[in-house]
Amino acid sequence: MRKVIPWLVVILILIIYFLNKKQKGYDNTIIKKNGAYYFNSHIIVNKDYKISPFYTPFPKLKALNALKIMINDANKQGLRLIIISGFRSYFKQMRLFNIYVQRDGLKKAQLYSAKPGFSEHQTGLAFDVATPGLHESAKELFQYTKESEWLEDNAHHYGFIIRYPKGKEHITQFMYEPWHLRYLGKKDAKKMKNTNLTLEEYFHLV
Ligand SMILES: [Zn+2]
Repeated sequence: MRKVIPWLVVILILIIYFLNKKQKGYDNTIIKKNGAYYFNSHIIVNKDYKISPFYTPFPKLKALNALKIMINDANKQGLRLIIISGFRSYFKQMRLFNIYVQRDGLKKAQLYSAKPGFSEHQTGLAFDVATPGLHESAKELFQYTKESEWLEDNAHHYGFIIRYPKGKEHITQFMYEPWHLRYLGKKDAKKMKNTNLTLEEYFHLV
């Protein structure tokens, strides 16, 4: 009996450990904190999940570092990428969106720009890139560059996803934006690349 009791204790500890581990796995719980929605510790901003005007991100150093390393590696292969947009506050997004609506009308503007409170740029984890010389108004041409092709093949190695992929416009509700990168961390970015899912599908939000 004396020998059995320590074994029972070990088994009990193992059961508690595995039950705990299971609970930490992916479930469909969405948490709201600091004015933003989180799914499994990943912040979610899309046309269904709004972010508060007062949500201010702490500097996302991990994401910025990963971006710099990625751009540097691309550079070594003769590719030139520049960052044209990163964090945008609610109020900056409001100004931008209003300009686009005045220029193109609400319907068209909504396809390529988010209403204030619905922009991933407010999280500090989204970045727009371009090649030098490619004018803002010719953004659509980025998809035909070698740089865009390289990003499609390699961004996940650095923890980034092409947030609004081609052919998934009906899910993301955004046009194909090969320049808009979202930092997610290597583990999830690689999984998403391998499964060819959008963030909405990956987190079962649709
Ligand atoms: Zn963007």
